[in-house]
Amino acid sequence: MAAMMRQAVRHAQTATAGAQAWKDYVRAGFVGAVGKTPLIKLKGPSEATGCNILVKNEAMNPGGSVKDRAALFLIQDAEERGLIKPGGTVVEGTAGNTGIGLAHICNAKGYKCVIYMPDTQSKEKIDTLRTLGADVRPVPAKPFDDPMNYNHQARRFSEELDNAVWTNQFDNTANRDAHYHTTGPEIWHQTEGRVDAFTCATGTGGTLAGTGMFLKEMNPNVQIVLADPPGSVLYNFFQRGVLEREGTGSITEGIGQGRVTANMEGAPVDYAIHMPDEKSVEVAMRLLYEEGFCVGASSGLNVAAAIEVAQQMGPGHTVVSLLCDNGLRYATRLFNRSWLETKGLLASVPTEFHDKLIS
Ligand code: PMP
Repeated sequence: MAAMMRQAVRHAQTATAGAQAWKDYVRAGFVGAVGKTPLIKLKGPSEATGCNILVKNEAMNPGGSVKDRAALFLIQDAEERGLIKPGGTVVEGTAGNTGIGLAHICNAKGYKCVIYMPDTQSKEKIDTLRTLGADVRPVPAKPFDDPMNYNHQARRFSEELDNAVWTNQFDNTANRDAHYHTTGPEIWHQTEGRVDAFTCATGTGGTLAGTGMFLKEMNPNVQIVLADPPGSVLYNFFQRGVLEREGTGSITEGIGQGRVTANMEGAPVDYAIHMPDEKSVEVAMRLLYEEGFCVGASSGLNVAAAIEVAQQMGPGHTVVSLLCDNGLRYATRLFNRSWLETKGLLASVPTEFHDKLIS
């Protein structure tokens, strides 16, 4: 009898714990699964600098990248403004990751999805979009001031359709709102406010601006550092006040910018760092083969910048950055020996990892 009573009490306790767990841990569908990514301390970079080098693992978003957050806010913004009704079409210009986020959310919400992207982007991202059922339209890469630039093509196509919206990730600030309302607060809570600097590469600028604005509001002393790849104008814009490219092209995808987007306007950037591809590739390799994280080159750049900032600040500081997406999106490029060779980047891969590369 006593044993039965004890068992009943245990069942009741489990049920109560279960109810609590349901409330705290169960996420409502794909949309509810976006965000709340883990903050992870990187071992090697933290030991080398004497700092806490922490990264939000954005590859753990349900669509696999940091852009799931922006995609969700862009679609919710279109819904709230009455720009799209059930069964409508979402049209966007993207390097791929925003498109992948949008395609997932469109499936979850019953919209169609049309994606214009420059044909310079990885095959893996195009294949992923097609697998998700999006109508993918790779177009020749053109600068923003060319009417055939992928964004303008996306806008024009959306205007030809009924019940369609061009979500306009570059200049619709619902993008940075996503990070002001989610990424920033998550970092603040996960570090219990103990964050000294945040480093971030930018494409649209949404991640850097939104997260930076929130962190600065919480503590004006947090250093917001823009990490820029070759071929982008933002490094010179923030360091010298001129819109001038620094270096030529980059193998990084989804980052680097030729103008100040509406999302970047007013971003609280303390200073910018220019990061050569050699360093971004080396750090991406170390993240995979020493830390265990398979990530793309923009994540390598983010962490390379975090290490540089930590070295400047000195031991005892906490520097936060992001792993933007999964490296499998670039398997035939970043982790392929012959591709790296053609880009002159094989020497950037530490020699002990050469035999691990796909050939
Ligand atoms: N890294 C990757 C891999 C991306 O695809 C993007 C977005 N294009 C970014 C970083 C930059 O994010 P944001 O657009 O918020 O500046």
